[in-house]
Amino acid sequence: MTEPKITQLQPMPTDWHRALCVVAHPDDLEYGCSAAIAGWTDGGRDVIYVLATRGEAGIDTLDPAVCGALREREQRAGAAAVGVSTVEFLDHRDGVIEYGPALRRDIAAAIRRHRPELVITLNHRDTWGEVAWNTPDHVAVGRATLDAAADAGNRWIFPELTEQGLEPWNGVRWVAIAGSGRPTHAVDAGPGLERAVRSLLEHRTYIEALTQQDPETYVRDFLTTQTTANAARFGGTPAVAFEVFSR
Ligand SMILES: [Zn+2]
Repeated sequence: MTEPKITQLQPMPTDWHRALCVVAHPDDLEYGCSAAIAGWTDGGRDVIYVLATRGEAGIDTLDPAVCGALREREQRAGAAAVGVSTVEFLDHRDGVIEYGPALRRDIAAAIRRHRPELVITLNHRDTWGEVAWNTPDHVAVGRATLDAAADAGNRWIFPELTEQGLEPWNGVRWVAIAGSGRPTHAVDAGPGLERAVRSLLEHRTYIEALTQQDPETYVRDFLTTQTTANAARFGGTPAVAFEVFSR
C-alpha cells in the first residue's frame, strides 16, 4: 500500500513591496501570522496593520472604555516587535462588526491610502477547520477585505473616496487568508518565530485574562504547535500557512 500523498504548500509570492494586513481585533495577527511578518520586514518589505476595532469587548473583567485604549497600546507594541510601525484603527464596534458597504468602503479606503500588492486577512469562513465556530467579526472583516481588494480599484463603487483624494488602486495582486482551513501557500516560520513569540506576549493583559498558564509558556507552545503542524506540507519546515487568492 502506498501512503496517501500530502499536497504540498507553495512558497508565498515574493515579488512585492508592501503588504496591508486587515483584521478585526488586536491579537488576530499575532495568533499565528506574525512570524511571517517578521520575516518580511527583515527583508525590507513594508507591512501595515489596519484593525477594524480596538478589541474593547475582549476582556470580561475590563470595561470597554478602559479596555480599548489598553489593547491599542498592546497592539502597537506587538506590531513593533515584528517591525511594523503603522497601525490604524477603523473604529467599528467590537463584537458587532457589520459586513456591508460601510465596512467595504473603510477597507477600500485603507487599500487606496497604502497601495499594497499583497493584502492579508484572517479566516473568513464559518468555522476554524470545520471544528470550532468562527466569530462574526472575523467572518465580516475577512469577506469585506476580499471584496475591498476589488472595490479599491473601481472608481465608481465608492466615488466619495475619490472626492476625498483617494485615487483608485487596482494593484492588489493577492489576498492571503491566515488561519484558513484550506491553505495553499506558506512561509518559513523559523527566522521570525522568536519575535512572533514576543509580539503575541505583548497582548499580556488579554492572555493573563485567558489562561492560568505562564504567558510565555502558553504563547511559545501555541505558536510552535501551530507552525509545526504545517511542516508536513512544507518540506518539513515549520511554517505560517495562507490560502492565497490571486487577482
Ligand atoms: Zn479576533
